[in-house]
Amino acid sequence: TEISLPSTQHAVRVHASGGPEALQWTEVPVPSPGPGEVLVRTAAAGLNFIETYQRSGVYRMPHPFIPGSEGSGTVVALGPEVDGASVAVGDVVATAAGSGTYAEYFTAPVGQLLPVPSGVDPAEAAAIPLQGMTAHYLCRSTVEVQPGQTVLVHAGAGGVGLLLTQLCVSHGATVITTASTEEKKALSRAAGASHVLDYSGFADAVRDVTGGRGVDAVFDGVGRDTFDESLASLRIRGTLALFGGASGPVPPVDPQRLNSAGSVFLTRPTLVHHTLTAEETRWRARELFSALDAGTLDFRIGATYPLAEAGRAHGDLESRRTTGKSLLLP
Ligand code: NDP
Repeated sequence: TEISLPSTQHAVRVHASGGPEALQWTEVPVPSPGPGEVLVRTAAAGLNFIETYQRSGVYRMPHPFIPGSEGSGTVVALGPEVDGASVAVGDVVATAAGSGTYAEYFTAPVGQLLPVPSGVDPAEAAAIPLQGMTAHYLCRSTVEVQPGQTVLVHAGAGGVGLLLTQLCVSHGATVITTASTEEKKALSRAAGASHVLDYSGFADAVRDVTGGRGVDAVFDGVGRDTFDESLASLRIRGTLALFGGASGPVPPVDPQRLNSAGSVFLTRPTLVHHTLTAEETRWRARELFSALDAGTLDFRIGATYPLAEAGRAHGDLESRRTTGKSLLLP
């Protein structure tokens, strides 16, 4: 089956590093799927913090580029060497591994496509892959969260934060979070956090809450502003999973500090190393979608923006105005 496709599309493109205004709404060719790839007509692109690092130059990118790796939509063409048994034109899919999802069409490798269950809205399906699989690997692979453990999740009302809190609770842990406003604190509590703390002085509060012991693990996507107190919040032999830097990158760390903090473990994981094979990706997606089905996991779309207003979305994300997931709609 062939669907007739336009030769050009609207897309957001970055020509030079900068603020949100660096996201320009332009007309570009519709990409062709390469070997092992499909072309997807975008239902929604997911907004993720990494795109702000790529836009601003914290992460170097070849210019110009179309941002976005998360998206959902309908498969409209198959590239060469795609096994027609695994995917077909017309399938509704979502992915965390697309190329340039801030566009009306994007390409993605077949092995990184998640089938969207029929009960999930095609656009809303873009809310799950990237932050969902990140939350999954953090509590199932980076740390195997167990019943009886207590963990600290920063930015508890954020995209990853809300999902990670729920997954940790479903694996039997007590979850402590941080959040900056009353609205965010209420959302974090609703996701299952037992204690929601202010950022200022959170390490002392964690000691109080844990009877002086400290937490088994800290999941820290805030970075520069929280790192020192995150280390100070761990129990002896606890793990600090530093998975992002929403407040900025963490300066170099002297390994001796891990000794002083109590023979603790420090890791800086990333999603691509936890979705190495189609099997691993499918395992994570299966667990996420069955948790959604079972009602132990829910996702929150805090805001939607027209794709043409991606700059406004970036501004909101960077100035801490968002909660849960933000979607960009073509
Ligand atoms: P969020 O929805 O969590 O948004 C970021 C949140 O961080 C804000 O809402 C804010 O919540 C908090 N924050 C604290 N300090 C600051 C600050 N100075 N500036 C901005 N925000 C601040 O974003 P995501 O869920 O998309 O991502 C969360 C983190 O996870 C990011 O660091 C991201 O890079 C990382 N990440 C890492 C992955 C990996 O595999 N390593 C994959 C996916 C995401 P509050 O108002 O409560 O402070």
